[in-house]
Amino acid sequence: MRLASETGGLSEAGSHGRFGSSCETIERYRLACRRCSHRWTSQYLVRRRPRGGGRVAELFYQHDTLVPSPWSFAECPRCSASWVRVVSVKPSPVGVEERSRTK
Ligand SMILES: [Zn+2]
Repeated sequence: MRLASETGGLSEAGSHGRFGSSCETIERYRLACRRCSHRWTSQYLVRRRPRGGGRVAELFYQHDTLVPSPWSFAECPRCSASWVRVVSVKPSPVGVEERSRTK
């Protein structure tokens, strides 16, 4: 368990790290529960990193926390079932919601 005592150790916040070949996208996953038919949208920050052999590692984050991919595990917010299906995926560029309001 780590508390916030280590803040400042990472200089990531100030500089937008545009180096390296890893990229981040915000993706919205529409999910459907197979048990209660509830549908909802879940937003993930997806980090992709190329690995050897043309494979890409995908890491899913929510609230800066590494979470299981929606393909492998998701939980229904209504009935807590983990029998969940991915309906569709929508990539949403960062900041597009802010921009659509102004101007
Ligand atoms: Zn459900």
